[in-house]
Amino acid sequence: MTTLTNLLDLDPAQLVAYCGELGEKPFRAKQLQRWIHQFGASDFDAMTDLAKSLRDKLKTRATITAPAIISDHTSADGTRKWLVDVGNGNAVETVYIPEENRGTLCISTQAGCAVNCRFCSTGKQGFNRNLSVGEIIGQLWMAEFELRRTKGIAPGPKGERQITNVVMMGMGEPLLNYEPTVTALKLMLDDNAYGLSRRRVTLSTSGVVPMIDKLSQDCPVALAVSLHASNDALRDGLVPLNRKYPLRELMDACRRYLAFAPRDFITFEYCMLDGVNDGDQHARELIALVQGSNPVPCKFNLIPFNPFPESGLTRSQNPRIKAFAQILMDAGIVTTIRKTRGDDIDAACGQLAGEVKDRTRVQERMKKMTEYQEKFGKDFGRIVEISS
Ligand code: SAH
Ligand code: SF4
Repeated sequence: MTTLTNLLDLDPAQLVAYCGELGEKPFRAKQLQRWIHQFGASDFDAMTDLAKSLRDKLKTRATITAPAIISDHTSADGTRKWLVDVGNGNAVETVYIPEENRGTLCISTQAGCAVNCRFCSTGKQGFNRNLSVGEIIGQLWMAEFELRRTKGIAPGPKGERQITNVVMMGMGEPLLNYEPTVTALKLMLDDNAYGLSRRRVTLSTSGVVPMIDKLSQDCPVALAVSLHASNDALRDGLVPLNRKYPLRELMDACRRYLAFAPRDFITFEYCMLDGVNDGDQHARELIALVQGSNPVPCKFNLIPFNPFPESGLTRSQNPRIKAFAQILMDAGIVTTIRKTRGDDIDAACGQLAGEVKDRTRVQERMKKMTEYQEKFGKDFGRIVEISS
């Protein structure tokens, strides 16, 4: 039996090549792409402007399949969270955050994560596997058309778009699942798919320096960097990847990225941890880091830590967060404090998939993580050291 090609896995060029293999002209790929990504079609028979012979061919060889929805919860504040199945007992989360003038979708790129930051529950699960293109873009496809269905909005390019912004801030480190992530990004930007501008798509990374450079060449969307510490000693303990790519190298990469970025600043995310990284001296160190002799144009986004039991960490008190923000702002740095959304459905940063985590499988996941790190050889040698 031949396996069906999932058309959600194909970027625009691959879809043209696929149509070529079926003996079809390139414009058919464009039509197909619009049916898939603008009308949310998964049934080839609905694609009425395609010849019946082509539809019949597609039915026997292809499929349009997004990850299946396991659960769907809406918070009192309108935040909606889906848990989607990515096979072998793994699930990832996709979160929709409605705001007055925009709708932001937070998507996942890996099941688990190998970076293992101290304050992150995804990291604590260990690495499980990379998501495919279809599983990454499938989250946007599923969410956009689910939201429209709920509201009774017609699909198609003229239908009111529900998702205006995408942030890769769900589970996983996008730059350690590079190719599928970039392919999915290209589909988000493509006019025959979602047509989002580069400014409205943000990739968040813990700081995989060589991949930041690669992204600047391949698909420079807005960049958020998870900083969380003002010096190497502190960051080594919070974001283990810092031992491989210390702050000086990370800041250099940010400066290089800015030459290609759609915005003229980098967003630094900073998780506020009580008594760990939230002192006045840390704020002053941050100012020196980004405004010193070689400045990095940036904004700060302070994220109140979302606690989970095993972390042994607590959230900074609100007055402390405000005082910290004030020091940065007094130095002229635009600083925001992230509102916590979807608390009642565990949809906040770092809480994703908390409730589905099967603790009996943590050992198995940790083993897979070590294998993954071994596969990446020297790049991950140091992470193995500290996570063991
Ligand atoms: N791996 C990427 C993207 C996913 S994490 C990265 O680390 O940037 C998205 C953001 O949520 C990151 O800034 C991350 O540090 C933050 N985060 C993780 N766990 C958190 C927690 N428990 N509370 C608050 N923010 C958290
Ligand atoms: Fe991975 Fe990001 Fe969590 Fe760190 S914060 S463990 S990089 S998902």
